[in-house]
Amino acid sequence: MAWRFALMIDPVDAADVRADYADTFTALDPAAPALTVGELSTQRGDGIFESIGVIDSHPQEVTAHLERLAHSAHICELPTPNLDQWRAAVDLAAAQCGAGESVIKLILSRGVEHGPAPTAWVTAAEASDFTRARTEGIRVVTLDRGYALDAPAHAPWLLLGAKTLSYAVNMAALREANRRGADDAIFLSSDGYVLEAPTASLILRRGDTFVTPAPNGGILHGTTQLSLFEHLDAQGYETVYATIPAESLGGADAAWLVSSVRLAAPITAVDDAPMPVDAALTASMNAYLLSPRD
Ligand code: PLP
Repeated sequence: MAWRFALMIDPVDAADVRADYADTFTALDPAAPALTVGELSTQRGDGIFESIGVIDSHPQEVTAHLERLAHSAHICELPTPNLDQWRAAVDLAAAQCGAGESVIKLILSRGVEHGPAPTAWVTAAEASDFTRARTEGIRVVTLDRGYALDAPAHAPWLLLGAKTLSYAVNMAALREANRRGADDAIFLSSDGYVLEAPTASLILRRGDTFVTPAPNGGILHGTTQLSLFEHLDAQGYETVYATIPAESLGGADAAWLVSSVRLAAPITAVDDAPMPVDAALTASMNAYLLSPRD
C-alpha cells in the first residue's frame, strides 16, 4: 500500500471551539512506528474508525462520516469527538492525496491503559484499483451473522451499529466467502433476514424501487447508500428501507454492494444463483459516486 500521509491528533473536548487546531496535530512518518504497546486499539480492537473515499484530493461525504464517527463514539461510550478538529485533520490529509483515488482513515481508540486516553490518528493512502468489481461485478454468498434482528434492542453491549475496530469477524467472513468461490458475503440474521456485507451495504432493485435493509437491525448505516438514495430519489426512483427476508434476495431485478472506497459493485450471483446485472445503471451510479460529493 502506498501511504500518502499520517497525523496524530491530540483530541480536544467537543466544546473546545477554536479558529485553528494546527497545534493539536503532529505529522508522522506513516512507515514508522507510532503507537505504544499498551494501545487498547491494538490489544482489544477497542476503538472506532471511518474510511473516507477521496477523489482527486476531494474527501467525499465528510459530514456523514463525521456524524457516524460521533454516533459510534456514543455507542462505545468514548469521549464525544470534536468534529471541527476531525474535519481540519481530514482537510490536511486530503490536501496530501493528489490525483486519483485515495482513502483517508480516521481512528479513535480507547487509548493506552493507565496512559493517555483516548488516542486518535488519521492516515491517507492510495486506494486499491476496484475497476473490475465496479464493471464486471462480484459473486456473493450468504453467511449467518449469529444474532437475531432484534439483538441491538436487548443487547446494546454487542455495539451493533457502531463502526468498531473489531473487524476480525468481518475479515473471517470474507475468507469464508473466498473459500466458497465468491468475492464477498451478505450477512443474514439468525432469524433469516438480510443485513449487510462485511464492509459494505446492500441495495436491491425491484422494478423502479430501490430497497436496503433498515438500519435498526444491527447494521451500519452506510454513507454511500445514503448518498445513492438521495441521488436515486432526485432521479424519480422510489427508495425504501425494509426488513428483507433472505428468501426474497433471489427475486431482485438487480443488486449491489456499496461502500465508500469500492463504490457500487454489481452482484452477479448469490449462492451460485445468477443475479441480473444492469451495466448502464451501475456505470451511472459509479459516475455519480466518483463526482465530488459533500
Ligand atoms: N457496513 C459495514 C459493516 C461496513 O464496514 C461498511 C464500510 O466499511 C459499510 C456497511 C458501508 O459504509 P460506507 O458506505 O459508509 O462506506
